[in-house]
Amino acid sequence: MLTSAVQGVYLVAAVLFVLSLAGLSRQESARRGNALGMAGMVLALGATVVLAVDRSERSATVTLVLIAAVLLVGATVGTWRARRVEMTQMPEMIAILHSFVGVAAVLVGFNSYLTEPRADAVHQVEVFLGVLIGAVTFTGSVVAYLKLSARMPSAPLTLPGRNLLNLGALVASGGLMAWFLASPSLPPLLLMTVIALALGWHLVAAIGGGDMPVVVSMLNSYSGWAAAAAGFMLSNDLLIVTGALVGASGAILSYLMCRAMNRSFVSVILGGFGTGGGTVAAAAPGEQGTHTEVQAADVAAMLTGARSVVITPGYGMAVAKAQYPVADLVQRLRAAGVDVRFGVHPVAGRLPGHMNVLLAEARVPYDIVLEMDEINDDLADTDVVLVIGANDTVNPAALDDPASPIAGMPVLQVWRAKQVVVFKRSMATGYAGVQNPLFFRENTAMLFGDAKEQVERIVRAL
Ligand code: NDP
Repeated sequence: MLTSAVQGVYLVAAVLFVLSLAGLSRQESARRGNALGMAGMVLALGATVVLAVDRSERSATVTLVLIAAVLLVGATVGTWRARRVEMTQMPEMIAILHSFVGVAAVLVGFNSYLTEPRADAVHQVEVFLGVLIGAVTFTGSVVAYLKLSARMPSAPLTLPGRNLLNLGALVASGGLMAWFLASPSLPPLLLMTVIALALGWHLVAAIGGGDMPVVVSMLNSYSGWAAAAAGFMLSNDLLIVTGALVGASGAILSYLMCRAMNRSFVSVILGGFGTGGGTVAAAAPGEQGTHTEVQAADVAAMLTGARSVVITPGYGMAVAKAQYPVADLVQRLRAAGVDVRFGVHPVAGRLPGHMNVLLAEARVPYDIVLEMDEINDDLADTDVVLVIGANDTVNPAALDDPASPIAGMPVLQVWRAKQVVVFKRSMATGYAGVQNPLFFRENTAMLFGDAKEQVERIVRAL
């Protein structure tokens, strides 16, 4: 009776998770999507606790106290971290959270084996694969966290024969699985865990900075499959469904991001992007000519005379928290009859949808925020483009220079506009470490300084 009731609650939670994902796919419905997801999670946790108390061999009070204790620790640390995290640190926070899913799958796997060492072959396969995926996800996510938080260089680690190393690790794991199935024991499981931990580390260490957006969503997918594997081990249907939802949506997002960056999924996984012939890409070459510098008052004058303006935001807008004065500027220009729109690159910022979230936070109307493909053709007819803290995503070398580490990545073709103004603090390179010829074009003017302060100055000058 109780089990059926819990299954019923799980089903409702699963439907809420599906509706949540559907809601999250559009900005207008994202808040509702989040609320549905939270409601599903409350139901799922509640039902799991009821089931755990019912099945436990200990007294109900002891079980409840134990669960409450871990929930308290987890919720306290989670709330504390989530409240303190800056929007620009979200990708690294997501990466480290993925690592927890990985380590949980490994622990569930070992626990499952130790409590049921003589289980049937299907269960042994579930345990083996769960630990394998979990271990790869764990170290891969830790490396992604270290790279995204600049605690480890973002350049790809290119060991000789790196693809053979990965293949060797997979073949060895296959052999260990055969051993584990033939005679279930700890040595093959432990050996495979060590190999999988090394594989996860190496897989992500070999991926260069430019591909990190895909890695974040790929690890999201892995963490989903690790959770689904844990669901099989625990015979928990909701965990299987939830894990599969996360795994599949992460895989779809990775595919979409690869397409946006004109990269193949396989080449991203094999790593080494940003390297030529196996050597690490050279750091930013020096300056490539002379650049023109302007002041905020000059930009205000350009904007006053413009009919159409496009703003292409990037990571620097997030760092400077410039979205609020930018929204203010947009409102004033629109009130003065200027046609203002945003062009958002799919990998602008440091996480998928980063710019959309910031602009929505500053209450910029959704209908003037366009995707790169929707705006690129209009840029030639645009009077002024304001590049606010973007760099790699507006780099013409991606199209003009086949030797560039970002060659082939579709970019916002801002240089086609009559006038471009680039807001940044220096001539430094962006995330991919590649110099940007845009800064030296005749129709480009550099407005140096913190993006927020400069936009505020422009608003005052207007
Ligand atoms: P970039 O990282 O290429 O460049 C950001 C620019 O912002 C820098 O050149 C920096 O120049 C400037 N900047 C930093 N702080 C400020 C400030 N306070 N005021 C003004 N300018 C500032 O940004 P893009 O958004 O164009 O490109 C994103 C990059 O990140 C791509 O390479 C992408 O692949 C990668 N990436 C994307 C992820 C995603 O999912 N979206 C995840 C991980 C990586 P200066 O120092 O001179 O001010």
